[in-house]
Amino acid sequence: MSQTQRHDNGTDQRLLLLVGLVAVSATVVATLALVGTIDEPPRSGNELITVTLLIATLTISLTVKAPIRIRSTTHATAWVETAVVIGVALAPTSWVVLCTGLGVAIATRITKLSLIKTVFTISKNMLVAAAAGTTLALLGWAWPPRSPAYMIISLAAAYAVAALLDEAIGIPVIALAARTNILRHFGTNWDLRLVGFGVRFVVAVFTLVLLQVETWLLVAVPPLVLSLHLAYSTRVRARAERQAWQDLAHTTDALNVVDINAVLHTAVAQAANLFSADEVEVELQESGRTVRGNSESVTYDGVADDPSTINGTVVPMELKGHDGSHIGMLRLRFRGPVKLSERERYTLRTFASALCTAVRNASAYAELNRVAEEHAHAAAHDALTNLANRRHLLERGAEQLGQRRTEGVVALLLLDLNHFKEVNDTLGHAAGDRVLVQVAERLRTAVHGQDLVARLGGDEFAVLFHALPAPAVAAHRAESLLNALHEPIELDGMRISVEASGGIAVAPSSGGMTELLRRADVAMYQAKRAGRRIATYAPTRDTADLGRLSLGGDLPRAVADREFTVNFQPIVDLRSGEVIAAEALARWRHPARGTIDPLRFLETVERSGLLPAFAEAVLDQSLIAATTWREAGFDLPVAVNVSPRSLLDARFPGSVLARLRAHDLPPDRLVLELTETLTLSQLEVVDQVLGQLRDAGIQLALDDFGTGYSSLSVLSRIPVHELKIDRAFVTAMDTSAEAVAVIRSTVDLGRSLNLMVVAEGVESEPQRRALWELGCVAGQGHLFARPMPAARLLVALQQGAGGRPGTLAPVLHDEGAVVRLSPGRRPGPRRMERLPHPHLPA
Ligand code: C2E
Ligand code: CA
Ligand code: CA
Repeated sequence: MSQTQRHDNGTDQRLLLLVGLVAVSATVVATLALVGTIDEPPRSGNELITVTLLIATLTISLTVKAPIRIRSTTHATAWVETAVVIGVALAPTSWVVLCTGLGVAIATRITKLSLIKTVFTISKNMLVAAAAGTTLALLGWAWPPRSPAYMIISLAAAYAVAALLDEAIGIPVIALAARTNILRHFGTNWDLRLVGFGVRFVVAVFTLVLLQVETWLLVAVPPLVLSLHLAYSTRVRARAERQAWQDLAHTTDALNVVDINAVLHTAVAQAANLFSADEVEVELQESGRTVRGNSESVTYDGVADDPSTINGTVVPMELKGHDGSHIGMLRLRFRGPVKLSERERYTLRTFASALCTAVRNASAYAELNRVAEEHAHAAAHDALTNLANRRHLLERGAEQLGQRRTEGVVALLLLDLNHFKEVNDTLGHAAGDRVLVQVAERLRTAVHGQDLVARLGGDEFAVLFHALPAPAVAAHRAESLLNALHEPIELDGMRISVEASGGIAVAPSSGGMTELLRRADVAMYQAKRAGRRIATYAPTRDTADLGRLSLGGDLPRAVADREFTVNFQPIVDLRSGEVIAAEALARWRHPARGTIDPLRFLETVERSGLLPAFAEAVLDQSLIAATTWREAGFDLPVAVNVSPRSLLDARFPGSVLARLRAHDLPPDRLVLELTETLTLSQLEVVDQVLGQLRDAGIQLALDDFGTGYSSLSVLSRIPVHELKIDRAFVTAMDTSAEAVAVIRSTVDLGRSLNLMVVAEGVESEPQRRALWELGCVAGQGHLFARPMPAARLLVALQQGAGGRPGTLAPVLHDEGAVVRLSPGRRPGPRRMERLPHPHLPA
């Protein structure tokens, strides 16, 4: 049972109780009156005429009235008291009480009142008559009265008692029936009602005076009453009308708000007041939203199919736009039977059209707001990933830098995806976009509290760390963000592992966001160069990085002026220390900035369109170096790194072979190191390029093996001769069992596919030994030599280690088993081939 229903039942019970009380009292009074009448029946014809006239007057006075509807209850003012007072002045009270009952009964039959209203009206008026008569009796009344003053005072007392009792009984019942506030009814039109009482009293006195003076003058009374009544009801109606227009004006003003909720809730409350309805309902077509309520509260607001609990009269009104479109429905509900007056129907139409306009305006406003918000969002966000964009990051950063003294440390992490370019180049931009979206999603989920993730463009992301308790926490958070990217991304059945390099910078004391971004950028490139996942900005290493972003402009000059040179790092037989090859590593001898490492300029070169010129310069210098060593008696193959981009160029094999011919070097003296990326396995042109290179006799090596995309699937498609174990595994060997496992399985793979395996980044004797024990036969690293110019390497080769030319390290002494090497299988200087290993079967 709902709140309103409970409330209704309470009201109904109180109403019945009140009516019952009135009826019982009236029955008692009527019984007494009956007894009185039997004791003292009308004696003369005059008295009989008086009684008959009284009944007639009462009947007429009750049917002629000025009605005011309150909800579904109509409230009317009648001339009853006037007739009653005249009656009790002329005839015994007991008669008058009975006559009143009879007259009212006839009137209620004529106006077809319901049973409860009939009982109530009869009872109330009988009580009023009894009270008026008793008052006069108490004042010692007799007809004709002693003096005019006595007459007026007595009649006034009787009239006041009658009128007050009428109000006191009538108003609470009306208020209960209409479920409105009792006090409000007492207050409504009190001034007009007071004047009405006065006029009706004057008419009563006037009538009695006429009766004393000249009976026939009584014919003047009915017209007088009628005209007074008309005047009164006209006033009441005029006032009601004026009030209604004022209310309508207020209501339409109140609807003049921009928030749709306010419009609907106001409309319901205002309409309930305006039309004195028990419930008002507004139903909107477009949203299916229904708002329902009364003058006090909203009882329902939603889109469900929730029927109203009020049965009775429904007055529907369509809400129609100016263009005739159907906007929704407005419904007034009344508990009882109600018929709206002409004026009310007009008001309803006006209200409905004001409501339509308000709904329209509010919708337009909401739409405007939505668009504005959308624009604001678009201006601050990246359309693809919906992350914050650079602008938003800068704004938020600047804000936090402004207040950082109180709130802890602000730091920035810059993330750059490795190998993302290849995803784009080979699988297309759509696939690239999906990778970016997934990366964004992972960062968004992994990010801590109020930290802000932004996409700066391309494959560059940033995370603004907010209010860190200490600078060191930044590295910790960065680590967990990078871990979130670790799991490979599923793309059309392919698993692509996305790795990123991150640079962290803590807010500088000056320079604001621009400086913070620059520092994070510097740190990120330091991480890339050092082969680490994350680096934190260190001012001491900064100077060299200052101009990274402006390097692009220097490229054409670098190519023209041959600023790109090549250093060579020997590759060594781990057991014997003998040099078996050399890797060419590019350097940029920048006239202003000194020597620049490849990781800092390679990307710029690849993006610039100058890649072929650069690659050609490196290849040329490498082949010249190989020729020089060969002529000096060291016939070493030279390993040259190839950008994945070069493999997309069908002319690449032709140009490489032309260079080889120009330098008169056999193709097997050249090893091309390919970075293991998606490019290698996905595109037909890459297959063709690699096929041609291999068919021509050029050797192929897979660089950074183990770090990139599904290594095995790459191997199955690309015919390589050599695998290079990434430096990261060698570095981690003594701490990570996983790194050892990767190395071991790479070695095993190389053995079963008959491939040469080279370990990168060998920095210590223990690493050399451990690698050898794992079955790895060749290595490269600072332990043996750093990259150096070709001429210097030649000198080193000629000197040799321990007087053995061609070696750079002493022989590895196996402390365990005696090493037995068959001389024929030792690595010859002529070819790079699989080296034998004592622990493993050949
Ligand atoms: P990479 O092919 O893996 O080259 C090995 C990198 O490790 C070189 O860095 C080398 O100096 C460094 N390195 C060698 N031994 C050690 C060691 O024991 N410890 C440590 N910490 N590092 C060692 P570099 O010369 O800075 O080259 C970086 C990368 O740049 C190369 O990685 C290669 O991918 C690329 N690169 C270099 N030259 C060229 C080139 O001419 N063309 C292309 N496309 N890429 C190049
Ligand atoms: Ca390499
Ligand atoms: Ca490498």
